[in-house]
Amino acid sequence: MNRILTIVGARPQFIKAGVVSKAISARSDLNEIIVHTGQHFDANMSDVFFDQLGIPAPDCQLNIHGGSHGAMTGRMLEKLEEVMLGEKPDRVLVYGDTNSTLAGALAAAKLHIPVAHIEAGLRSFNMNMPEEINRILTDQISDILFCPTDIAVSNLKREGFEDKPVSVVQVGDVMQDSALFFAERAEVPRGVTISEEFIVATLHRAENTDNPERLGSIIKALNDIHGTIAPVVLPLHPRTRNVVKKLGLDLSVQVIDPVGYFEMVWLLSKSGLVLTDSGGVQKEAFFFGKACVTMRDQTEWVELINAGVNELVGADYSSIIDSVKRHYGRVVKDENELYGGGRAASRIANYLSGQ
Ligand code: UDP
Repeated sequence: MNRILTIVGARPQFIKAGVVSKAISARSDLNEIIVHTGQHFDANMSDVFFDQLGIPAPDCQLNIHGGSHGAMTGRMLEKLEEVMLGEKPDRVLVYGDTNSTLAGALAAAKLHIPVAHIEAGLRSFNMNMPEEINRILTDQISDILFCPTDIAVSNLKREGFEDKPVSVVQVGDVMQDSALFFAERAEVPRGVTISEEFIVATLHRAENTDNPERLGSIIKALNDIHGTIAPVVLPLHPRTRNVVKKLGLDLSVQVIDPVGYFEMVWLLSKSGLVLTDSGGVQKEAFFFGKACVTMRDQTEWVELINAGVNELVGADYSSIIDSVKRHYGRVVKDENELYGGGRAASRIANYLSGQ
């Protein structure tokens, strides 16, 4: 029996783990232990995803959240080491690019436990992003690098991974598995009153929320889009809500609390456009046939830009408005299976069971 210790802690990781945990549990030779670091802890940022996606309750809850990046990562590192010493897994599985990802990979590597990284090889080439630091370091200490795209594989090749004694495997994107699997379960979010077409927006990247000038420009654009182009529905991330309140900014779009995945699937599939600074939501727009306008200066999901279905507009007011006008109502198609077509989780489980 191959004992896999999975570390999750943030919303996008629950969504990715949903489909992978199902694929792991379908294999009799794999046994999964789930550790929740506590990085995201509100019911609507955590519990709802375990319930909706049928993820087994975590075997271990660390309840670590808040504080600076260094302090949070340090506390996780200490606790995760204890858990790993007790559980003695054959392998540690980490997702994406959060502090939980890096702490999990580092704790395991120092104990000589092999690490598999799901969403390996992504690069924004912006070292000011905490996510970029986390993903580069995690890749360096992983021995199985599950890449979602060809571009992720070529990033690793450029960094010399071909000459290392590690496995770089293109499996596709687990978020597409999730979008396909749960598409049927779409649910109208409570409090959404819009009957006509609308734009769904998300906003939480530190480069936007921690910079009052960028945030002010984005919020002005959202308000004006809402007033003139189409209603904007914004499930607001707790971090952004706090900053908006602290700065006293006037946000006049349809703000709702963060929603569960089924509600997010509804918003994505019914919208006329997706406007976001999220990583995952850029791809979900594509999975649900929508164009995306991305309020960032770089993206790891370059294939969407190359395919002309996603546009980077940064935080510039006029660029956001122009792009939204151009893309609103477009229907986009996944003609080349850019993200593997929804078979990533079973490929990952098969690969892990062969180890
Ligand atoms: N999401 C959600 N409810 C929301 C906002 C986002 O379920 O209110 C989902 C979204 O559909 C995607 C994931 O959360 O699957 C993306 O997470 P987030 O944008 O927080 O992180 P990122 O992908 O930027 O790391």
